[in-house]
Amino acid sequence: MQLYRRGFRGPAVRQLRTHLADLGLLLAPGQVSAPDAELFDDVIDEAVRSFQQSRGLRVDGIVGPDTTRALDEARRSLGDRLLYHSISHPFVGDDVLELQSRMADMGFDVGRVDGIFGARTEFALREFQRNRGLSADGACGPLTLRELTRLQRTVVGGRPYELREAEQLRSRGPSLAGKTVVLDPGHGGSDPGWQFDGLTERDLMHDLASQIEGRLLAVGVNAFLTHHRRENPTDDQRSATANETDADLLVSLHTDGAASPRAQGVATYYFGTGRTSSVVGERFAELVHREIVARTDLVDCRTHAKSWDMLRRTRMPAVRLDLGYLTNAHDARALASRDFRATVAEGILAAVQRIFLPPDLDPPTGQWRLPESLRG
Ligand SMILES: [Zn+2]
Repeated sequence: MQLYRRGFRGPAVRQLRTHLADLGLLLAPGQVSAPDAELFDDVIDEAVRSFQQSRGLRVDGIVGPDTTRALDEARRSLGDRLLYHSISHPFVGDDVLELQSRMADMGFDVGRVDGIFGARTEFALREFQRNRGLSADGACGPLTLRELTRLQRTVVGGRPYELREAEQLRSRGPSLAGKTVVLDPGHGGSDPGWQFDGLTERDLMHDLASQIEGRLLAVGVNAFLTHHRRENPTDDQRSATANETDADLLVSLHTDGAASPRAQGVATYYFGTGRTSSVVGERFAELVHREIVARTDLVDCRTHAKSWDMLRRTRMPAVRLDLGYLTNAHDARALASRDFRATVAEGILAAVQRIFLPPDLDPPTGQWRLPESLRG
């Protein structure tokens, strides 16, 4: 796919300009029909970056597949098209997000408000339709839309679906036994990920994943890896595998890397688009992140909301850890050490334990240890 960025010239930029204007990202109307509307200029660059920022995308000013798809989703408004559960090509967009949040605001259980029309959304929509005396066909057409709009005025804010996610997790109880956690080591097969000095992200993250898996199994957690080291499934396949296990949590493991050898540090990501986010995902990301920062000397690059597929398409609270820059000498030295990876594995185990504990039993960051009896 063609990537567009500052300096590019072509008819596609004229269209991009219109899309950005439709989204209210070009302030002066003259900017739409700028004298050189086919040039990707500074104004477009700035609008693209602010769009990326608002949607939880990488902010690089480059219009590639992710940004194009997000622009497409952002332009959908509820009522533009008939929405229903299509298994082969699910409807995705801001219209679906709007439908989900309206139903959630009325107390219907749509699962996560993620802008993807799945089975849960259909189920909730049928329930809504039955409730309102409409034909319960699970499709959002004109009649359903009119009813949704009519009722909306009577509903007062609050975000019940966010509370429901937290409530669901709490209802599973504090004990780790019987919980399910999916570990998703980045890359695999012929894709090594970042490489440095004979180290590969693939091998390091698979080792880390199996160290975490061992510790989780020792305390009674059902732990799964999304794939073997020899395989490299797509993000869609990884999230589908995770969803099949009905897991409570997912941790995706990567290292970062950069052209500059000076870039370093650890960052943790959770699902969020600027319009919606996973509260439990955010809390879990905070716990994972703080445990690692407390136990290692990696630079703290904080936690961030992102709309990446692994975080969005997985139904359980999910985090992605970017554990240091493999392209940085300091971080690479740490990552190369099996003891360092064991320390990180302990930190993640502590975070998994803490997310299920009620606040009064929650140990301070960096303090929780695997019980002596379970150490191998
Ligand atoms: Zn990676």
